[in-house]
Amino acid sequence: MFPAAFDYRAPTSLDETLSVLKQHGEAAKVMAGGQSLIPLLKLRFSRPELVVDIARLPGLNTIRRDDGHLAIGALVRHVDIAGSKELAKTAPMMVEAANWIADPLVRNRGTLVGSVCHADPAGDWGSVMLALSAEIVARSAASERVLHSSDFFKGPFETALKAEEVATEVRIPVRKGPSGGAYLKLERRVGDFATVAVAVQVELDGDKVASCGIGLTAVGPHNIKATEAERSLDGKEPTDQVIAEAARLAAEAAEPKDDLRGSAAYKKDVVRVFVQRGLKTAIARAKEVKA
Ligand SMILES: Cc1cc2nc3c(=O)[nH]c(=O)nc-3n(C[C@H](O)[C@H](O)[C@H](O)COP(=O)(O)OP(=O)(O)OC[C@H]3O[C@@H](n4cnc5c(N)ncnc54)[C@H](O)[C@@H]3O)c2cc1C
Repeated sequence: MFPAAFDYRAPTSLDETLSVLKQHGEAAKVMAGGQSLIPLLKLRFSRPELVVDIARLPGLNTIRRDDGHLAIGALVRHVDIAGSKELAKTAPMMVEAANWIADPLVRNRGTLVGSVCHADPAGDWGSVMLALSAEIVARSAASERVLHSSDFFKGPFETALKAEEVATEVRIPVRKGPSGGAYLKLERRVGDFATVAVAVQVELDGDKVASCGIGLTAVGPHNIKATEAERSLDGKEPTDQVIAEAARLAAEAAEPKDDLRGSAAYKKDVVRVFVQRGLKTAIARAKEVKA
């Protein structure tokens, strides 16, 4: 199908982009890599009057270390993350997750920030952001807001972003202690969206868990932060029993539906098994960092 007619603008500065968005509000739609927006336009699920292509904006395609965090710009693509030496060192779970996304064609054009803004409940990056306690920087002509990922995802394809805002970067806190992460994904075939996936990040303090982040993919109306499961590990030695209890709590937090990919009960059990495995892998990786 062809998209409904729309006007197209390709601003060359952020200020110009923000002023166009201020002027057009809900009638305009930002486009980064176009890997989700273009299919939506073609299916006429989205019918904006104006597409604002931000692909030419300068300075948004960098991964840089800032004060206590890594800043990943709005034009950094999945393929850039998969190949980033900085992320391989500071947030290796992101490199692992990037390689699970779609296929090389999509990874070459699609962006992390675009994926987060798209807020597909089956999208992989949302869970990674939740597990890493990432923040999203939102700019409008009038202001800048920094939104925590746990406040960002509101529902299927719905976020806390306003129509006149552009997400300019995500910020990943740099862990102080030894830490490790894991992204586990079950898919029907290579390149498919997840049947279920989980992101787990653990920081250790000696033999105990200093902090833990757990994000769940494709088992609810949006990516889910398994808060109770995370808290159950705080300050504890991660014995098999403690890990099994955290995995049980994570499965309890999942709200999957029966569909062609599997029954709700099956998906909940995959969450339990994946969180258990993910925690063990993340802890082993954190210990390697420590050694
Ligand atoms: C065949 C195929 C397979 C896929 N498989 C997977 C998969 O396995 N896992 C997965 O997670 N995803 C998958 N995807 C989705 C894809 O990875 C992402 O959704 C996509 O890369 C989004 O990034 P983009 O830059 O292309 O965003 P766009 O398509 O340009 O935009 C997506 C949405 O986000 C908004 N947006 C984009 N950037 C910004 C910004 N900076 N500020 C504000 N709003 C913004 C747009 O207005 C639009 O609503 C797949 C897509 C395809 C086509």
